[in-house]
Amino acid sequence: MILKAAILKKISVVRVEDVEEGPLSIEDVHEPRIEPGQVLVKVSVCGVCYTDIDIIEGRVQCNLPVILGHQIVGEIVDIGKDVDNVNIGDRVGIAWIAHTCGKCFYCRSNQENLCENFKATGCHVNGGYAEYTVAFKNYVYPLPKNVDNERVAPLLCAGAVGYRALKLTNIVDGLRLGLFGFGSSAHIIIQIARKLYPSSDIYVFTRSPQHQELARRLGADWVGHPYEDPPKKIDRAIDFTPVGEIIPRALEVLNRGGRLVINVIRKQTPIELDYVKHLWMEKEVKSVANVSRKDVMEFLKLVEKLGVDVEVQRYNFDEVNKALRDLKAARVVGSPVLRIS
Ligand SMILES: [Zn+2]
Ligand SMILES: [Zn+2]
Repeated sequence: MILKAAILKKISVVRVEDVEEGPLSIEDVHEPRIEPGQVLVKVSVCGVCYTDIDIIEGRVQCNLPVILGHQIVGEIVDIGKDVDNVNIGDRVGIAWIAHTCGKCFYCRSNQENLCENFKATGCHVNGGYAEYTVAFKNYVYPLPKNVDNERVAPLLCAGAVGYRALKLTNIVDGLRLGLFGFGSSAHIIIQIARKLYPSSDIYVFTRSPQHQELARRLGADWVGHPYEDPPKKIDRAIDFTPVGEIIPRALEVLNRGGRLVINVIRKQTPIELDYVKHLWMEKEVKSVANVSRKDVMEFLKLVEKLGVDVEVQRYNFDEVNKALRDLKAARVVGSPVLRIS
């Protein structure tokens, strides 16, 4: 069977102005073969993530040529030998974590997101910008029944990795939380944080007037430009932005003993820190790398229980390049998703 796929063939810069060509080329390819222990998934929706731009522009290394896309929602249409945990017809999600070795120190100590042989979906193996994709049987997830396919896709990376970042802040109810940047991930995480930590004030720092408006609508206690001074200092912070300068800025408004978690895979500009101004008084900075299967499962269950309103901007499959340009230019409000079939 021949199917349509959006392929990354060479590293290039995602242009933000409206152009006709690239960076991905939509082509006809053969249906992927499943090996023992794998499942074939007919893709319904795939979320578009800023990490795709990091891969396309070469900040994150991938195996070229590759089909991008790691927030995949679809239906299992075939199973390989030795697959006994899922069935044909199951509605499943596939996330960034495509495979881990299960043998290294990190895998054995409940930190598979740090696996030395971590394989990422739509980066080291083909992902979901295609009508069909393949996944390992233990790396697909049942999905919350109360969220439709378009809204569930962004939960698989923006949501799940954002949730990992929120956990890494070590927040407890009552501590003030600051979110820097308010795109796909932050607009989901604010809703979870609101419900898990009802006494915590949440401040949102973003330049975009559209993103500021969405933050207000989703219950932020204060919204402002990243360089505006908030009413009070914050105790915990998550930085969702691709620029380096936000890290010192977030640390400036962080209370003593506070912690900043950086929820991006790469920064596009340098980070300059002054020890006294930014780190003194036991302020901490931590990155978040990848996601474990436990994070994804825990998060999806939490969404089923608490409910989350995911704001999506829909694109047809052949508009994939436009979706990437819009995302880079911050023209997307909420989460961009591709309707594949
Ligand atoms: Zn992602
Ligand atoms: Zn491992």
